[in-house]
Amino acid sequence: MKDIYGILKKYFGYDSFRPGQEKIITSVLGGRDVFAVMPTGAGKSVCYQIPALAMEGITLVISPLISLMQDQVRNLKAMGVRGAYLNSSLTPSQIVLATKNAKKGMYKIIYVAPERLNTPAFLDFAMNSDISMIAIDEAHCISQWGQDFRPAYLRISEFIAMFEKRPVVAAFTATATKKVKDDIVNKSGLVHPVIYTGGFDRPNLSFAAEEPIDRLVYVRNYLAAHKNQSGIIYCLTRQETENAAAVLSSCGFGVSAYHAGMTDEDRRRVQEDFIYGRVNIITATSAFGMGIDKPDVRFVIHLNMPARMEDYYQQAGRAGRDGERAECILLYSPADVRINRFMIEQIPDNDPMTPEERQEYIRSELDCLQQMIFYSTSKHTCLRKRILVYFGENAPSHCNNCSVCRRNVITVKPAEDVRNYDRALYSKLKAHCRKLSLFGGVPLYTIASESMLRDMASLKPKTTAQLRLISGFGEEKIKRYGKDFINIINSF
Ligand code: ADP
Repeated sequence: MKDIYGILKKYFGYDSFRPGQEKIITSVLGGRDVFAVMPTGAGKSVCYQIPALAMEGITLVISPLISLMQDQVRNLKAMGVRGAYLNSSLTPSQIVLATKNAKKGMYKIIYVAPERLNTPAFLDFAMNSDISMIAIDEAHCISQWGQDFRPAYLRISEFIAMFEKRPVVAAFTATATKKVKDDIVNKSGLVHPVIYTGGFDRPNLSFAAEEPIDRLVYVRNYLAAHKNQSGIIYCLTRQETENAAAVLSSCGFGVSAYHAGMTDEDRRRVQEDFIYGRVNIITATSAFGMGIDKPDVRFVIHLNMPARMEDYYQQAGRAGRDGERAECILLYSPADVRINRFMIEQIPDNDPMTPEERQEYIRSELDCLQQMIFYSTSKHTCLRKRILVYFGENAPSHCNNCSVCRRNVITVKPAEDVRNYDRALYSKLKAHCRKLSLFGGVPLYTIASESMLRDMASLKPKTTAQLRLISGFGEEKIKRYGKDFINIINSF
């Protein structure tokens, strides 16, 4: 078998796999289909990018969102991997060109929107090329049970069935509910998949549920105490996103609103401002999220209680993808219960449910809501425990990293980041990255992550060989930025 550790080090700069990654990768390389459920930030991309690099031929990645594809292809390029995407953001002539290049074997990994799979031009390319693997990203889009349902996902199995030599197929999602999982296994065209379910705990996230008198005042104070951090503030309605953005902006914070009522153009601009760090804070409805692959989000605040734990955990989970500490704060008011209850009972008239089904539906949604209320008003039960138990996992009774545990001070202090690093050097290195980010038109975190900056500022590597010891420095990154970093460190 190929040296997957070598690939991990060379391209990604990492020394070890995260839980599940090795098992998934070796299963794929052994020719087995895979279905992986892993929490956000667990490292799903590595699970198909390494097989893609280890195998002959091309890997197709089916992905639902243009912004996700663009992020991923940009990340691949930064690692020295030839990748491309095919979606509606390209003009017809760009598509023709990209497909031509793909046919010539110029790309190792190609991201494609599900709608494009069964078009004549794409089929012509796919059926006449050596496609070794198909990765289905955000596989829950296949399920009508979730809010991200995408009809074109239902035709993926048809596409797979057309190959004379069937590629290995791997499906990935962070959504845990049983109904959705069953849909993915039954409808994605997977054959006897190896199933991997990762633990749902995100140890680097801290949780809090608060009931402040004035929520915007709470948020304002929070922002004032967390200057220059990047965060998302979820609101229940479009109007509330605009109102919160206006109030917080008037207090001097850089805030933009995001919701489905805005034009595509405006939404794209806000998203990019956020990803490139031109705006630190977004107030958003639940429409904001799936396309956001920003690893250094330091907090997610919910201005209102959502109706379901699934939604809450998915949105809160957008914090701290880089594994660094991040905060998830839910602000609760009893009015949230009334509003959510009202929305649950308002099923549209044209909904084709029988009265019994309707009753059953409302009952099950109200059950979900009740769980959220338990979470939001928890006085004695650890919040992390509530989350994990909800998703069917065992959990210790105290995490010491949520508002309940903190209030009930059972103080075993959560692992503080005690690493000593030179703050002045850190600032110098970060300023350099900022400059590179501005000139190169790439987000700062694709140049160096927080942990890489801190490691450099504490280990002070003086040679390329020493730099290579820092997790995250792959060959391409060293080639592009290594000299500059070393110069800064040496002249410091
Ligand atoms: P997901 O898609 O599951 O949300 P990503 O694939 O975006 O997660 O990975 C999250 C972060 O973890 C990325 O910054 C990625 O580079 C990093 N990562 C992935 N695998 C490893 C690993 N084995 N060691 C260290 N960092 C990793």
